[in-house]
Formats: sequence, structure tokens, C-alpha cells
Amino acid sequence: MATQLLRDTAFNKSTASLPTAEFEKLVRRELELLGEDPDREGLARTPARVASALKWLTQGYASSAEEVVGEGIFEEEHDNMIMVRDIELYSMCEHHMLPFFGKAHIAYIPNGKIVGLSKIPRIVDVYSRRLQVQERLTEQIAEGLCGVLNPLGVGVVIEAYHLCMMMRGVQKQNSKTITSALRGAFREDPKTRDEFLRLAHSSGAVSRY
Ligand SMILES: [Zn+2]
Repeated sequence: MATQLLRDTAFNKSTASLPTAEFEKLVRRELELLGEDPDREGLARTPARVASALKWLTQGYASSAEEVVGEGIFEEEHDNMIMVRDIELYSMCEHHMLPFFGKAHIAYIPNGKIVGLSKIPRIVDVYSRRLQVQERLTEQIAEGLCGVLNPLGVGVVIEAYHLCMMMRGVQKQNSKTITSALRGAFREDPKTRDEFLRLAHSSGAVSRY
């Protein structure tokens, strides 16, 4: 996993200046290969729209947890679990470039420092706005939070629906994928882990909108 994380960091700045014209040409060609007429009215601006949508959906490559947290860290002698639950999450699977979406539940135990609560969803966005697999996304969020806070422990649970499973192939429309990443006390102390997992799963079924 460490190597994987490093590789992604090295990738970080690569889409900051996505070459729009070249991208639009590719999308136009894609439409032709699908048997479509890229010049018909409804599709005329599609290459531009797809290029700008993809640029937006992958803007996490050009960002980092440190950057979005910025000055939002405060000294505080609080040593209980802090949890933000039901954070909306949208990402794209790197195998099919189709969306997966769901919720993240994130907790940590501070080690003299806390992070502004609104920063936690922003850390989720940094790593979800990239081509991902859910397993790596979960680990990267945990690593990102560890990196900025050096807490006593971190727990991340993600529950997500993958359109590549729902729309194609097996068409398992109700299967939800659940992943977790535990660090420090969340891994070593069974009581902490149990409390976290109980809180993370107590929302019951995640609604599918
Ligand atoms: Zn997929």
C-alpha cells in the first residue's frame, strides 16, 4: 500500500493543466467509434463538456490534505473520539471510469491537536476526485488525516455503490461495498475499534437517494 500511495503522490500535479483541445478531440473520436455523429446538434458541445467535467472530477490530483486543511488545525486537550458520519462521497472507479458513490464515516482521537470539522469532508474530496478503487481511497483518507494531525488513532469506513456493478455485467443493483481503514488506537484497542464500528454502522442502510 505504501508504494501505491507514493505513486499517487507522484501523479499529483499531472491533471492540473489538462490539455483541453486534445481531450476534446479524443471525445469526438470516441463518439464516432460509438457510431454517433459528433456534429449533430445534441452532441456538438459534448466533447467540451466531457473534457471540463473530467477535469473537475479529477481535480483531487492537483490537491493534498495539507493544502485543504491549511490553517484549520487547533491545539486542544481533547482525548475522546471525534467522528463525522455520513459524508457524501462521489468518485470514479479506475477500472471502468464509471462513478461510485456513497458515504464515508471518519473518526479520530486527537493527540493535542484537532482539525476544523468542515475540513474532514474536504479531505475526502481530495482523494475521491481522482480515478480510484474504493480500497485505496479508504486508506488514503486515513493516511491523509494521520499526516496532517498525527492523531492517536484514525478510523475510516466507506459504504459505496458502484455503477460499474449496477449498470453493466452482473447488474447487482443493491450490493453495497464496505471498506475500512484503521490506524493506531482504532487498530490496537478492541474497545475503541468496536465503538467506532458500531457508530459507523448504526446509520443502518445507507439510502440510495
Ligand atoms: Zn469499476
